[in-house]
Amino acid sequence: MNTNEFAPMPDAQGFFGEYGGQEIPPQLKEIMDQIAQSYLEIKDSEGYQNELLDLYKYYVGRPSPLYFARRLTEKCGGAKIYLKREDLNHTGAHKINHCLGEALLAKHMGKTKVLAETGAGQHGVALATACALVGIECEIHMGQVDIEKEHPNVTKMKILGCKVVPVTMGTATLKDAVDSAFVEYLKDPVNYFYAIGSVVGPHPFPMMVRDFQSIIGKEAKAQFQEQEGGLPDHIMACVGGGSNAMGLFTAFLEDKSVNITGIEPAGKGLDTPDHSATLTKGSPGAIHGFKCYLLQDNDGEPLPVHSIASGLDYPGVGPQHCYLKDIERVNYVSITDDECLDAFMTLSRVEGIIPALESSHAVAHAMKLAATLPKDQTILVNLSGRGDKDADYVANKLGL
Ligand SMILES: *Cc1c(COP(=O)(O)O)cnc(C)c1O
Repeated sequence: MNTNEFAPMPDAQGFFGEYGGQEIPPQLKEIMDQIAQSYLEIKDSEGYQNELLDLYKYYVGRPSPLYFARRLTEKCGGAKIYLKREDLNHTGAHKINHCLGEALLAKHMGKTKVLAETGAGQHGVALATACALVGIECEIHMGQVDIEKEHPNVTKMKILGCKVVPVTMGTATLKDAVDSAFVEYLKDPVNYFYAIGSVVGPHPFPMMVRDFQSIIGKEAKAQFQEQEGGLPDHIMACVGGGSNAMGLFTAFLEDKSVNITGIEPAGKGLDTPDHSATLTKGSPGAIHGFKCYLLQDNDGEPLPVHSIASGLDYPGVGPQHCYLKDIERVNYVSITDDECLDAFMTLSRVEGIIPALESSHAVAHAMKLAATLPKDQTILVNLSGRGDKDADYVANKLGL
């Protein structure tokens, strides 16, 4: 698996243009550099590659299908819509791809504990799953408010043998969970491994997580070639931190005929404060150890953000996305909560596929775009996850 075939590597300091890097204390920089070095050493080793590829195939169930959504295509009345079915992976989303990579790396490095924070619990469950499989201790910090809201995920983490640490300080949500997990990590960064949940954080995480996810685009490209011939005209994915999007985009970056679009959450509207459209409305800044576009106040503090999809409400975004926006290789657009809900229901009722609310943002944009394009054009959408976790919420919201 030559993961970097088409991807511009970040430079040795972890920069994609002016974004990324390591905005962290020197003590941690040393540790991050060790992780980068270990990763680069074992990345192309046959043992590690075979181990990871075997897990993708026999454990996750890869390759995930590329599915031609015939009825959705007919409903939109234009371009053909294909879905890359990451929702069919074990644990129901793309996150397992990088959690397995991270857990394996931690194990190979002889670390004794994997640590992370989780918001809605999706990253926590995927990581607890990977750690159970690999056989390494796992500790997840989660805000008390989120623990009450996302009870099924908390239960799953416990069943999987993971220690869930409730965080009651501050607003008892994601940001406080990050702070709390970080305090625990700093107690022993030599033996602990902080598993970041997207293509964000200090170098080497944006590079590593992208590499682990790039299996999505590699498969999709070969599957599209086989089913339709040639390359898709458009590919797209939702962008929170940006890992499922980088996973799809990486294989297509050098194919200039392929139009690439990242979809951000416009929440209640870009003219309100209740959105999380970082690339559309943010400005360069720094958060959680790296430089990126950021939704920030006048003092450079991250603003509170909103999306109906809790996996997308992050005020920063992966550094490679920032770079791809600036060089205009990828176009970033946004979709509102209402448009997302509409796509969620449409895909469910027209195709019998209940998508995650995160993924519904990408479906919503694909539906809009398809209607404006001729029938011989093609759109490939990354369906990053399934919507079981969102079903009750949507049913309540729509009074079903
Ligand atoms: C977490 C999550 C996302 C957002 O994360 P990215 O790093 O932007 O991919 C998107 N879709 C699903 C289903 C998720 O669980």
